Amino acid sequence: MSEPEIPLARPVLGAEEEAAVAAVLRSGQLSLGPRVPAFEQAFAARVGAPHASAVSSGTAGLHLALRAAGVADGDEVVTSPFSFVASANACLFERARPVFADIDPVTLNLDPQAARAAVTERTSAILPVHIFGYPADLPAFEALGLPIVEDACEALGAVHADGTPVGGRGHPAVFGFYANKQLTTGEGGMVTVGDAALKARMDSERNQGRAPDMGWLDHDRLGFNYRLSDIACAIGLAQLDRLDGMLAGRARAAAAYREALDGIDGLGLPCADHGGDRRGWFVFVVQVPKDGPGRDEVIRGLRERGVQSKPYLPAIHLMSFYRERFGHREGEFPVCEDVAARSVALPFFPELTEGQVAQVAQALRAVLGR
Ligand SMILES: *Cc1c(COP(=O)(O)O)cnc(C)c1O
Repeated sequence: MSEPEIPLARPVLGAEEEAAVAAVLRSGQLSLGPRVPAFEQAFAARVGAPHASAVSSGTAGLHLALRAAGVADGDEVVTSPFSFVASANACLFERARPVFADIDPVTLNLDPQAARAAVTERTSAILPVHIFGYPADLPAFEALGLPIVEDACEALGAVHADGTPVGGRGHPAVFGFYANKQLTTGEGGMVTVGDAALKARMDSERNQGRAPDMGWLDHDRLGFNYRLSDIACAIGLAQLDRLDGMLAGRARAAAAYREALDGIDGLGLPCADHGGDRRGWFVFVVQVPKDGPGRDEVIRGLRERGVQSKPYLPAIHLMSFYRERFGHREGEFPVCEDVAARSVALPFFPELTEGQVAQVAQALRAVLGR
């Protein structure tokens, strides 16, 4: 194997991020400083939201957003089983039950019809996930008349058919800034929201329940430490400045993959934008053909050819914790299970070259024997 291994993901970081971090270090104020509101305001403006709260991770953001939406002990939250496990876990943090409903076979997002059928008198919120950056059908979920929390952790840069950016519809919408996301702060997250009172609640709860106008030691509610540091926010501001270029790089890589993988019999590719919705490219996930080598064999074969890949995503309800806790089993959500069992994420990042795309495509064809 002569060529170097192609990684699954790689962030774009440069002199701007370095300078931004150095400036925070020199300032001596590493937390609760001016970069936090600066990053919040710039991020909110970017997605057209009135407010945003910076938090320590996407998972922390989901937790605070669910609390802000009023989700509490014994409630049910209707959500997608085809997601990163954090979206379901966050419901359990509040002792609410994640109630799964099947996904749309084309967009791979929570199917609004299935979600409607899963609503009971105990349902207190709907938690759609914009999976792989493709906008979930928010107008259909809004028609259900229940509070909505959006898991937008994979969807920075996505736009709904009516022109609203994902995160700009007013519901609490949660973004994540782990190193493989469209924008990274190392670890981190952001909740955008329309209602100033919900921002105030989340700002307090991320900081031990402290009210903004209170002294250090008085706390009028339960809170957490879900703060994002000024160091992270400074990186986030530098990343926002280069976001358009990074999103364009991902879109370019996706187009190159589409061309290189065209015509592989039975291989499922990410759906094209349709109906006016626009994807914010996050990952490039293919579904291996039903009649060839299985997902794990494909991943092994790619690794032997210098290409990193991973199963992405496994169905949440079939994870051992969820099976044991809720008695889930195969057959409950057939679309999700079929897609999840065949899904493989290929190397994908803004600086992926045409040569690397060609190497991945050649490796995949060889492994699949097509
Ligand atoms: C990345 C991600 C999250 C949040 O992840 P953190 O590591 O907590 O930032 C949540 N949901 C989805 C769908 C994600 O992809």
